[in-house]
Amino acid sequence: MLNNDLMGPAGLAIGHKTIDEIGSKLLPVSPQNYEVWLTYLTNSSPDLRVALDALLSSGRSISNIDMEELYERFFSTTHLSTQVMETGSRIAHEIADALDALKKAGATTERYGATLNIAAESLVSQTMDGDALKRLINVLASATTEMSKQNSNLSHKLAQSSSEMDKLRTSLRQARAEALTDALTGVANRKLFDETLRLRKEEADADKSELSLILCDIDHFKSFNDTWGHQTGDQVIRFVASALTKFALPDHLVARYGGEEFAVVMPRTPLKQAGRIADQIRTAIEVKRLVRRSTNETIGAVTVSFGGAIYTPGETVSQIIARADECLYFSKRNGRNRVTLETALPPVTVNNAA
Ligand code: GH3
Ligand code: MG
Ligand code: MG
Repeated sequence: MLNNDLMGPAGLAIGHKTIDEIGSKLLPVSPQNYEVWLTYLTNSSPDLRVALDALLSSGRSISNIDMEELYERFFSTTHLSTQVMETGSRIAHEIADALDALKKAGATTERYGATLNIAAESLVSQTMDGDALKRLINVLASATTEMSKQNSNLSHKLAQSSSEMDKLRTSLRQARAEALTDALTGVANRKLFDETLRLRKEEADADKSELSLILCDIDHFKSFNDTWGHQTGDQVIRFVASALTKFALPDHLVARYGGEEFAVVMPRTPLKQAGRIADQIRTAIEVKRLVRRSTNETIGAVTVSFGGAIYTPGETVSQIIARADECLYFSKRNGRNRVTLETALPPVTVNNAA
C-alpha cells in the first residue's frame, strides 16, 4: 500500500521532502532516520506520528538519540523479522541441499545394491572363466569406488550444512540480542523490559513468589543537559545504567525505560530488599563526583529518585508500573534523591461524601 503511494512524481516529492526535513533538523540522512521520517510524513504509523509530534512540539531540538529511540520502538521488530525471514530462507536452502545430496546418495546406493545382486547371481548361476571373473571384479570395484566417493561427498556436504546452520543460529541469537538492547547504555530496552515483566509476573503467579519493581528517574536532568550539553548528559545516563547494573542481583533485569528513566525488575525479591538495593544505588550515584570526559571539568554530583512497588497477584503489569511510578513521583515531590516504596505512601482516601 505504502509502495503505491510512493510511485511516480508524488513519491519523488515526498522522498525529497523527507530528506529536506531531516537535513533541516541537522540530523544525519541515515537509512534509519529516512525510514522514521518517511513513515511520519506518509502518516503510516499513527503511534509514531504521536511520538514524533510530541518531540517536535517540546521545543527542544531533536537528537539522533531521539531518532534511534523512535527507530528502536517502531521498527526494530520489523528489522528483526526481516532478519529472521532471511535466515529462515537460508536454512531452507541448506536443508534442500542436504536432502538433494541424500537423494543422490540413495540412488547410488540402489545402483550399488543392484550391481552386487547381479554379481552374486552371476557367481552362482554361471561357470566363470578368468576373464569374466576379472570383468566382474572390475565392475564391482568401480561401483564400490563410486559408492565411497558419493559417501564422502555426502558426509562433507552434511558437515558443511551443519556448520552453516550453527553460524546462522549464532547470527539469529545476536540479531535478537541487539533488537532488545538499548544502544546508548547496553542495558535492556523497553521492549525487553515489557517482555520480562510479563514473564516474571506469570512466574510469580505460578510459584507464589514476590516480584518487586523499581523505577527511577534522574533529577533535574533537563537543566543538567542545558548546562553541560547533550553529550555529557549521555555520559551521565551511561553512568546511572552502570550503577544500576552493579547493584542489581544476577536475576534482576535493568532496563532503560525511557530517556533518563530506568527500571529494575526484581523476581523473588521482597519489597524491603528491593528498597535496600535501590538505596545502595542512590547512594553510589550521589557520592560519585563526575568528570566531563571531553574537558576533564568536574561536573559535580547527579542524583536519582526512586519508586518501588510489589506485584499484587491478579493485577496487570500496567498496574504495578503505575504504582511504582506514583512512588517515584512522591520521591520527586518530596525533595528528590530518595527512595519511596509503596508501603510508605500515605493511604489513598476516597471521599464519597464530597
Ligand atoms: P525531574 O527531576 O523532575 O525529573 O526533572 P527533569 O529535568 O529530569 O525532568 P524531565 O523529565 O522534564 O526532563 C528529562 C530530560 O531528559 C529531557 C531531555 O532533554 C533529557 N533526555 C531524555 N533522553 C535523553 C537522552 O537520551 N540523552 C540526553 N542527554 N538527555 C535526554
Ligand atoms: Mg523523566
Ligand atoms: Mg528527570
